[in-house]
Amino acid sequence: LIAKLTELSFSAGIPYRELLIEPSARENATFVVLSRNSDVYGLARSIRSVEDRFNRRHGYDWIFLNDVPFNEEFINVTSSLVSGKAKYGLIPQEHWSYPAWIDQDKAAEIRRQAAKEYKYGDSESYRHMCRYFSGFFFQHKLLQSYDYYWRVEPDIELWCDINFDPFRIMRTNKKKISFVITLVEIPGTITTLWQTVKEFFKSHPQYLSKVSSKDFLSSDGGKTYSGCHFWSNFEIGSFDWLRSQPYQEFFNYLDKAGGFFYERWGDAPVHTIAAGLLLNRSEIHFFNEIGYSHDLYTRCPTGATSRQELKCHCDPAKNFDWGQLSCLPAWYKFHQLPFPLGYEEELP
Ligand code: GDP
Ligand code: MN
Repeated sequence: LIAKLTELSFSAGIPYRELLIEPSARENATFVVLSRNSDVYGLARSIRSVEDRFNRRHGYDWIFLNDVPFNEEFINVTSSLVSGKAKYGLIPQEHWSYPAWIDQDKAAEIRRQAAKEYKYGDSESYRHMCRYFSGFFFQHKLLQSYDYYWRVEPDIELWCDINFDPFRIMRTNKKKISFVITLVEIPGTITTLWQTVKEFFKSHPQYLSKVSSKDFLSSDGGKTYSGCHFWSNFEIGSFDWLRSQPYQEFFNYLDKAGGFFYERWGDAPVHTIAAGLLLNRSEIHFFNEIGYSHDLYTRCPTGATSRQELKCHCDPAKNFDWGQLSCLPAWYKFHQLPFPLGYEEELP
């Protein structure tokens, strides 16, 4: 009977020896979270999900950043949930304020006009947040010793077991950035972004990758931007790349143009366009095995066999991948990859 029970308990879950991974087997990587104190319980849900599906076997650190000090409740709740070390950092004011060349009255007037035009149109803090993720988070003191980051936000869910180490995939395959959901941006938030990017590459042609992803970003040979971007609330990436001179110059050029404040440029299109044009197309990775939700959108791996192997608990009917707003079909076509088996039956 005991033998039977042992056998059963093994076949029902992960073999025991896989539960704890030697700390020395970890990559030099960390989770990174920007959060307000008021986001603590939405974030607690996210942490619980990431720990259950992945990190309890690895013990990677969690770094929490905020533009104001974290309160005791935030620190107590989050530190009790993580398996690695929890560290809490304050964002330096020069990374969360207006640069000298921005006309703040003009920015305020634009926010008033944009209030009803698009989500967060009237929000000043949202613009600081997007600029922070575009150009500054990787410069934070607490992040300096790490090579890779995994960004987590409040109110996310992981739907499948992650029985591999995404950080290791990144390093061993020389990946610089990765995504799980790719979608089209609201055009009104990035009116002059593509034009500014083109000006940058006119003055810095040496930075344009010879094997870029230009034809993923544009369907007319580069004239206009399709709006396709990697949803950055999930992002596993390389600090080396963000800290490199080409990326820094790219960001500084965009920052000077003012669109973080005069429009509402998101860090997602900024990272995506940078990756698409500065990097080799093989340096961008799509994590097909990761089931993920944030807010309205869910992606659930295609194919019942895959979902069972990965122990997913998402509803495949909610899969974003093959819907109207998804850029994943464009990604597959750009890389000339066959669509996953069985996707036709799972079209929304
Ligand atoms: P959305 O996902 O685009 O709707 O934007 P969110 O409101 O979720 O913000 C993105 C991330 O930045 C989340 O992790 C938020 O907690 C965080 N965030 C947004 N605004 C602020 C802010 O003003 N201060 C701080 N500390 N975090 C912020
Ligand atoms: Mn969010």
